[in-house]
Amino acid sequence: MTRPRLNEARTKIVATVGPACDSVERLCELIEAGVDVFRINSAHGTIEQHAEKLANIRTASIQTGFPVGVLLDLAGPKIRLGQLATEPMQCSLGQKFTFIRGQSSDAPDELTSSYARLIDELDRGDRVMLADGTVALEVESVSADKAVCHVVAPGEIRSRQGINLPGVKLSVSAMLPADIENAIWAAQNEIDFISLSFVRTSEDVRSLKDLLGSYECPALVIAKIEKPEALENLERIVEEADGVMVARGDLGVEIDVAETPVAQKRIIATCKRHMKPVIVATQMLESMHHSSRPTRAEASDVANAVLDGTDACMLSGETAIGDYPREAVAIMNRIMRKTEESELPTSPAVDGKIEAAHRMAHAVAQAGTSVAEAIGSKLIAIATHSGGTAWVKSNTRSLIPTVAVSDHVASVRRMNLFWGIEPMLCENIQDTHHLIEHVTRWASAQTDNGVALVNSGDTIVVVSGSDVIENADSVLSVHTLP
Ligand code: PGA
Ligand code: MN
Repeated sequence: MTRPRLNEARTKIVATVGPACDSVERLCELIEAGVDVFRINSAHGTIEQHAEKLANIRTASIQTGFPVGVLLDLAGPKIRLGQLATEPMQCSLGQKFTFIRGQSSDAPDELTSSYARLIDELDRGDRVMLADGTVALEVESVSADKAVCHVVAPGEIRSRQGINLPGVKLSVSAMLPADIENAIWAAQNEIDFISLSFVRTSEDVRSLKDLLGSYECPALVIAKIEKPEALENLERIVEEADGVMVARGDLGVEIDVAETPVAQKRIIATCKRHMKPVIVATQMLESMHHSSRPTRAEASDVANAVLDGTDACMLSGETAIGDYPREAVAIMNRIMRKTEESELPTSPAVDGKIEAAHRMAHAVAQAGTSVAEAIGSKLIAIATHSGGTAWVKSNTRSLIPTVAVSDHVASVRRMNLFWGIEPMLCENIQDTHHLIEHVTRWASAQTDNGVALVNSGDTIVVVSGSDVIENADSVLSVHTLP
């Protein structure tokens, strides 16, 4: 099995693993359709179940020969309803419900939550959003042991559904015991990316990084932006994190849904300025849960995320529990590709301070792209130990196929999130001759209508990152294939 990479989108695809796709066979299909990173959502299942998913992903990776990345998503301080007296429960307009302490109640008008301090931190007039924001309660009065609410948006609720409290500043800590347990498991199992839900401040991100640091875990930490506080503290969160997710599912409940499109653009622009990878998530192809084709609006949503400059788009239920996981990945890939071909997102302007910190890599990677464009090179090859040079190059948007070759398998998997970078494992990357042979072998096998990506007489631009070639910070060279 080989994945047809040549005509693939440069924007990356993250797909959530769930019952609809968690067999080795299905995972292989999704890799072949274009998945770059699989997400294991720790909000569902036990560590044993995560381990089972991970084992299947690793097997699929070996079977397809594609070094797919893995992201573990930590649920963070998500507050949930306790056990309801009836299942489901109807909430009609004006009906009164009372939050009480404890885990469950037999009274049909009493609600409980997983957050012990909820009643202490609610105030009269606060909104309590249930069932993904479709049901809304307003707090009428709060006393020592209860908070009385009435329904302002009616609907149906179920036990253990998430509770969103827009604008309510909670004192709950950034990670719950289960998050810490999951993060440690991720560190011990070579997970490539770890995302934290409901980040509010840069300190939240720091606490996860410190925890991972004590396990010498090189995973990239992704901050999920889904709280108004995170938007207020965006600049510092982006600085602290290794990457960001525009988590539109909860964000669209926590802030006015009418403000989410502009928030998405602002988050992406901030990430680009700080040179951090960004993922746009949730409801991208929502109708494909039960339809083999997306709506026009969904196609536009994917295309607009690409044009906003995102590095990756994510599929959630579409691949985890949907009827058409493979079709969803394939069409997402095609929409991205068509969009990139007709209108390449402009290379983002990078904050001067950030650029100065990577001045050498930045200048050489940019020059490499310019040279390749100027002389019509068919391929750019990046030699990098850590993936850093590939990331800098990724920010110079260009459609010239770019392979990034590393001798560290963890670096190879991490590069799966970098826009326009085709990651590849190779020993002896300091031997440029060997490196060119390695990438040429791959590129010669990449054909479009019978024509190989590279042929004799074609040029390849090689950019070697720092510490790859002895006594050189960065090296840029052009090679003509014999
Ligand atoms: P979730 O995060 O799917 O883990 O809730 C993404 C989002 O909220 O959009
Ligand atoms: Mn969320």
